[in-house]
Amino acid sequence: KRLVILGGGESGVGTALLGKQKGYDVFVSDFGTIKEKYKHVLTHNTLNWEEGKHTEALVLNADIVMKSPGIHDGVAIVKQLRAKGIPVISEIEFASQFVQGTTVGITGSNGKTTTAILTHHVLKQGALNIGLAGNVGKSFAGLVADAEYTDYVLELSSFQLDGVVDYKPHIAVITNISPDHLDRYEYKYELYIAAKFRITMNQTADDYLIYDADDETIAMWLQQNKIKATKIPFSLSGNTTEGIYIKDNTIVSNINNQEFTMPINELSLEGKHNVKNAMAATAVAQLMRIRKQTIRESLSDFQGVPHRLEKVLKIQNVQYINDSKATNTNATFFALDSMTTPTVWIVGGVDKGNDYDELMQLVNEKVKAIICLGVDNQKIISAFGNVVDIMVETVSMNEAVKVAQKIAEKGDTVLLSPACASFDLFENYEDRGNQFKAAVQNL
Ligand code: ADP
Repeated sequence: KRLVILGGGESGVGTALLGKQKGYDVFVSDFGTIKEKYKHVLTHNTLNWEEGKHTEALVLNADIVMKSPGIHDGVAIVKQLRAKGIPVISEIEFASQFVQGTTVGITGSNGKTTTAILTHHVLKQGALNIGLAGNVGKSFAGLVADAEYTDYVLELSSFQLDGVVDYKPHIAVITNISPDHLDRYEYKYELYIAAKFRITMNQTADDYLIYDADDETIAMWLQQNKIKATKIPFSLSGNTTEGIYIKDNTIVSNINNQEFTMPINELSLEGKHNVKNAMAATAVAQLMRIRKQTIRESLSDFQGVPHRLEKVLKIQNVQYINDSKATNTNATFFALDSMTTPTVWIVGGVDKGNDYDELMQLVNEKVKAIICLGVDNQKIISAFGNVVDIMVETVSMNEAVKVAQKIAEKGDTVLLSPACASFDLFENYEDRGNQFKAAVQNL
């Protein structure tokens, strides 16, 4: 069978290797340029590829097509494939056919990576032979080709879920849903929500859906739509004793007839959002029958993930925190919420249609100065001009950090949590976070 792969990035190359191993006639076609390291892998494995074009004669004769998550459904070649009735699937769909073990699929608007890495950590400490893949690190197909693991934790973006046909995770997690990536969903929020819920569409009663019961979007969708999976809600609100909940500052859960408790102050990660992430990881771990003691230990020794509320340094009793991955207001909401001392807030970048109203109260309570770092700061200035006395515009990370140091007093926090995309001044959020860390080291 001829397998054509659109996109020669991490998931494309992983799929190519797995496809070849399973006996497919593989062809990789990338409209842009393929990175050197991937070209090397393709050539080394005698896989055919092209870049800078999609040659119709070579693509449209496919039996099956894997479309990389970065490629929009509306591009011409995808439309042509669909018109010919050729199945266009995602890497997750393709790779999952070759997995016998358990997969845990984690999606949501924020917290996917943190929850996936944390869950993987707990399961690994529980001695499971567990791989971590998807949107984080290596591709799922690449790991399946390596044949090293039995079970997998997968971080799944909405784009990866779009290409799912039959795949189902045995355990699905939806961390939360707030508007994001609407440009890929005809600017219709309901289409984005529906994409997230594709994670559960093939599940049956033997499978589980773990979700944030306090999230209004999730709660509403579940009211309006029937799902087959067994539901395990988690809630921070203290109003429920269903699933996983909080009682007396302690996480309490009862899954698989095992009662689990853990005081919140023993979690290594700070912030309410991370309590939620820990609850989700706990539910997965209990379903996979990890010992309670192991769950507790691994939730308290987890090191955290770079660029997510990452403590960088304390200088003259001022704590510097890198939350560069906060590319929307919801993520920044939880960052500000977890601040316990007066905060100098570095914010800005490419606006994604932000509504700053939801941050107003927290900014009023916690922020003593705003340092704008973006090409266009007007929206931030007009949103918070009346709430915060000190507002400075800066043009580079170095300048922003230096100004922050001047303003911050002993006991304060300097927080980079941009609530915006990074592409105006930086290559990506990692570059932005690394520049922040370097500027802090240089102080
Ligand atoms: P994703 O992979 O979904 O982008 P990350 O774990 O990379 O999520 O976190 C992205 C941003 O959201 C970071 O700023 C992080 O501190 C914040 N965050 C993490 N977990 C949550 C959560 N459960 N709810 C809201 N924000 C979160």
